Amino acid sequence: ATPTAVMVGTGKAAELGILIGDGEALETTRRVTAVVLDKTGTITRGRPDLSAVHTTTTWEHRRHELVALVGEAEAGSEHPVAAAITAHATQHGSHGGRIRATSFEAVPGQGIIATLRTTEAEPRVLVGNQAHMTAHQIDTAPLAQTAAEAAAQGGTPMYAAIDGQLAGLFVVADPVKPESADAIAQLKALGLEVWMVTGDNTGTARAIAAQVGIDHVMAEVLPADKARRVASLQAAGHITAMVGDGINDAPALAQADLGIAIGTGTDVAIAASDITLVGGDLRTIVSAIALSRRTVATIK
Ligand code: ADP
Ligand code: MG
Repeated sequence: ATPTAVMVGTGKAAELGILIGDGEALETTRRVTAVVLDKTGTITRGRPDLSAVHTTTTWEHRRHELVALVGEAEAGSEHPVAAAITAHATQHGSHGGRIRATSFEAVPGQGIIATLRTTEAEPRVLVGNQAHMTAHQIDTAPLAQTAAEAAAQGGTPMYAAIDGQLAGLFVVADPVKPESADAIAQLKALGLEVWMVTGDNTGTARAIAAQVGIDHVMAEVLPADKARRVASLQAAGHITAMVGDGINDAPALAQADLGIAIGTGTDVAIAASDITLVGGDLRTIVSAIALSRRTVATIK
């Protein structure tokens, strides 16, 4: 590629809100055959709200107490689902005395474990997905059907257990960005294969994928495995672009032939990428690909 054409290309891209590292990234953009989109924060807004709290019969009359306990347990987590739960707990949780956490542990891709101290007890609180409950021998059967229904609607269900017993189900909903479906339709129209990758459960992932027109879904992928999933597409012959925003996404962004960070995301994700979308609008990827095809055609 001639330096002048590349400068023109990257300059035009900047006007569109796309920061392209170098001429090589522009050339790779042109050759992409599969786009892998992270779900949370990329396809969806990344700021979920709590949409429902369900309890087991044991906790039915202590719902506000459960909300307060789970809210306090989540206070130590940086995950977006935690923010939704703690915000709800601030408004709707209540407990006779003071609660504080004496220990906290986050299990990536699964949930959290916290020990709390209240005036009368020291409850051990687990919050997370089915894998997290299975790992701690919590029987989720009483709320499993409710969880499956929530997932089918696109919600993310998280079980809560107190002292080794299932107590409740917290459902958060993270709405898709208004432009996501349009962007995905345009990527498919350019002949690209579009994939979703997420740590979220299969039911939720399928429901969101259906809302935005994605046919290929990789769900329940642990943070450490996202890069491996990108590598398997590469092994199948694809030139891959990975789009993500989170710290979790950094290894996959680095693994992909083209890493595309959402500018509103974490610095770690941006550092691991070849391209940054200044805003969070996925349609700018379509513009980038169209532009790269035009620019490289001019060079030839
Ligand atoms: P992603 O960022 O792709 O949505 P993660 O790998 O971060 O996925 O998380 C996967 C799943 O683990 C979440 O959908 C949720 O069910 C569970 N999880 C993660 N962090 C927490 C948390 N702080 N509290 C409860 N559940 C959590
Ligand atoms: Mg994300």
